[in-house]
Amino acid sequence: MNEIPPIQRPDEPAIEQLCQRLVEMGAELDRTDGWPGEQLQLCGQAGVFKWFMPQQWGGGEWGELDVTRGYLRLSAACLTTTFVITQRTGACLRIAGSDNEPLKERLLPDLVSGKAFATVGISHLTTSRRHLRKPALQATETDAGFTLEGFSPWVTGAQHASTVVTGAELEDGRQILIALPTDAPGVTIPSPPRLVGLTGSHTGEVRLDGVQLGREWLLAGPVEDVMKVGAGASTGGLQTSTLAVGLSKAAVEFLEGEAEKRPDLSGPAAELRDELSDVEQLLLSLAGGHEACSKDELRTQANSLVLRASQAALAAAKGSGYVVGHPAGRWCREALFFLVWSCPQGVMAANLCELAGIE
Ligand SMILES: Cc1cc2nc3c(=O)[nH]c(=O)nc-3n(C[C@H](O)[C@H](O)[C@H](O)COP(=O)(O)OP(=O)(O)OC[C@H]3O[C@@H](n4cnc5c(N)ncnc54)[C@H](O)[C@@H]3O)c2cc1C
Repeated sequence: MNEIPPIQRPDEPAIEQLCQRLVEMGAELDRTDGWPGEQLQLCGQAGVFKWFMPQQWGGGEWGELDVTRGYLRLSAACLTTTFVITQRTGACLRIAGSDNEPLKERLLPDLVSGKAFATVGISHLTTSRRHLRKPALQATETDAGFTLEGFSPWVTGAQHASTVVTGAELEDGRQILIALPTDAPGVTIPSPPRLVGLTGSHTGEVRLDGVQLGREWLLAGPVEDVMKVGAGASTGGLQTSTLAVGLSKAAVEFLEGEAEKRPDLSGPAAELRDELSDVEQLLLSLAGGHEACSKDELRTQANSLVLRASQAALAAAKGSGYVVGHPAGRWCREALFFLVWSCPQGVMAANLCELAGIE
């Protein structure tokens, strides 16, 4: 395996080298539904895990604009790997942003270096199973800490993680955020289900059956709305839109490649390229701190674009694109993910209206 030099900036040629390798491995990943272990190892060697982390922990502490540029490149090359990295990063930032210094010392060095893998299972506090009367994961306070009972419904790569950053609700409605060691007694991780796309992310449930955790694992709380407190705490940021734009880019580039040989495709390719440029511009200006539009407006546009661009790529690829292994078919399945991944109510409503043809 050729070493990829550390990537210190999102515009370095080395990122092209890394992305090329990820593209080459994409078809095999989709065919086998396997975990992108080799891809993650390459990203770790290239220093990708450091991009997001504070300098204090050996990270590069990239600003949001650079992170966005980096994610745009990676997601155009391999959405599964990039998505897994977002969940890994979410967990690492929650740990780094907590006040629990001993836990940070214990977990962060191996996470920043890539030796260990952590992930995040917090959707039951924000978007998933919120309509149920009983919280998905309940905590009871004990003398030593907490007893946890229930499950976290969506945890990417849980089987590969040593730590899952997850949340639970106490009887009085306050919530805690905790770094759950996956080898704690009472934790079980069933085989992840096959998904419409991104099956290689090995996303599935983590069950907790009377798990006893001491306060040394606590990251935040007990407090109301624990996801709104602490550093690294933003949910609904730009990364979902960034990955949608990255995937759109791959699809539009494919269409442009086909249009070089088939002039009938030039019009649609040019139209989609213009729209892609506009949405990318909006994304980069938001990432740069300018209020070009709201995050939900951006997400609505990015969702719409990724669905249409991926299907345009499939139409251009014709029947060959419908054979498993061709990237165009995969992009269509992956694009559907953006309809359900951390999708705010307003964005979902706007996407539904578009699908229903309501102006
Ligand atoms: C591939 C994938 C990877 C993911 N990875 C992660 C991850 O790593 N970490 C993480 O924290 N999250 C993750 N998520 C979760 C994601 O961000 C969303 O939280 C999730 O898609 C919400 O879907 P849900 O089916 O759980 O929603 P729910 O709202 O629980 O809906 C489930 C079902 O309940 C019913 N229902 C919904 N609302 C109502 C209502 N008001 N009244 C009655 N019935 C209702 C519907 O039939 C619906 O199908 C992932 C999701 C996917 C698909």
